[in-house]
Amino acid sequence: MDMKASKKKLGLKERYAHLTRGLDWETSYQKMDDVFPFDKFEGIKIHDWDKWEDPFRLTMDAYWKYQAEKERKLYAIIDAFQQNNGHLGITDARYVNALKLFITGISPLEYMAHRGFTHVGRHFRGVGPRVACQMQAIDEIRHSQTQIHSMSNYNRHYNGMHDFKNMIEKVWYLSVPRSFFDDAVTAGPFEFMIAIGFSFEYVLTNLLFVPFISGAAFNGDMGATTFGFSAQSDEARHMTLGLECIKFMLEQDPDNLPIVQKWIDKWTWRGVRVLSLVGMMMDYMLPKRVMSWQEAWEIYFEQNGGALFKDLARYGITIPKCVEQVTKDKEHISHQVWSTFYQYGGVAAFHTWMPSDEEMDWLSAKYPNTFDKYYRPRFTYWREQEAQGKRFYNNSLPMLCQTCQIPLVFTEPDDPTKIAYRESDYQGEKYHFCSDGCKEIFDNEPEKYVQAWLPVHQIYQGHCFKPDVDPTAPGFDPLAAVLDWYNLVDGQDNKDFNGSEDQRNFAAWRGMATRND
Ligand code: FE
Ligand code: ZN
Repeated sequence: MDMKASKKKLGLKERYAHLTRGLDWETSYQKMDDVFPFDKFEGIKIHDWDKWEDPFRLTMDAYWKYQAEKERKLYAIIDAFQQNNGHLGITDARYVNALKLFITGISPLEYMAHRGFTHVGRHFRGVGPRVACQMQAIDEIRHSQTQIHSMSNYNRHYNGMHDFKNMIEKVWYLSVPRSFFDDAVTAGPFEFMIAIGFSFEYVLTNLLFVPFISGAAFNGDMGATTFGFSAQSDEARHMTLGLECIKFMLEQDPDNLPIVQKWIDKWTWRGVRVLSLVGMMMDYMLPKRVMSWQEAWEIYFEQNGGALFKDLARYGITIPKCVEQVTKDKEHISHQVWSTFYQYGGVAAFHTWMPSDEEMDWLSAKYPNTFDKYYRPRFTYWREQEAQGKRFYNNSLPMLCQTCQIPLVFTEPDDPTKIAYRESDYQGEKYHFCSDGCKEIFDNEPEKYVQAWLPVHQIYQGHCFKPDVDPTAPGFDPLAAVLDWYNLVDGQDNKDFNGSEDQRNFAAWRGMATRND
């Protein structure tokens, strides 16, 4: 008679170990360094890849089950929102402009994150991090898809969302988030993990998804609210991966500390600069506001981030020194960025406008030290100009920061009346920066940043026109040619919200939904 063997069920940790351990081998007919050419040049020393602690022990079967459940709910809500003309229930059509910025500037980054994690997942010689990167790569492509699907509903009714894939590669302000990711994916695999796992997921996503998505809920946008919450539960996993990677590097070798610290400093600043777009969305683009940018920064970075740095202090990591400047800047950046977009509203794929009296009062209450003193007078003047039929559009091309690619519009941390300006010389050329943080990043790796694709330089060099355009033709209008190359429809996608097709359509459709005439 055969012995009946009782099969012991494995615990989650053991099951996960089977998924992520013992899958690799030492190569024999090729050198390991040739098979994994990228995980050493950054100087990070790893002695034992098996010491990697899997941050999320999610097996494939559990993963698909869990994600499929979220997907079912998300698409049910998107469908219901669409069938009930949910877009007419938003606060007002100005809100859609925040979504335009989201789909052109943020969703393509999710896709870039997908590609980045796929690449990095190939290039770590440890299996644990490779599997973790693969899981995150799947999450990221799902994020870009669910965001595109949720927002496609708006694309049927509103302007400016028709060509985000093309726009992220060309449009001047979209080169700010894009250059952040270009920088990350062209770094080594360990730096990528800090750039995305720490800066993008921890610094940025927290501030983007939590307050911004509550903003979507406040403004009646169930589509964006649902994709936001559906993505946010993945983000928690992604942050854990970023932190695990930081701890892993720090525990493996003391020589890794200064490298990791430098990356944390660099990517915190890179993240903060991209976040100025989010600050502007929160303070100016949500008709019904949730909290100010300053409040969000205090809750999600100063308090939550403070706890994180306390945790990392035992490894010798210190709070990045840029935080000192951010603490001063947090009362200014959203106003400065909105002023910039207002002026350059002729070359943006969304509408801009001046805040109403009631909105200005909200801003002075939220920014008692700065709004009335520095920004209200400027906005009042621009409103007067507009009332006289002289809506101000700036037609000059600004100088850009070589690192973050934001026009030089931010002020000195200690003097809000003076534009901040820094420069460096490298191989006989001059490079310009918006801040000490950006200058320092450049000075550490000038050979990388001299290659930056700066939209303004590219326009001046004639690279931003369609191929059949003749810039020497009489009456040539360079601005119109650039907009055409962006695939941005002049007079429809750009300029002031007041008088826009979006404004007119929304008013007419909402009228039809609520009246019988
Ligand atoms: Fe994501
Ligand atoms: Zn900069």
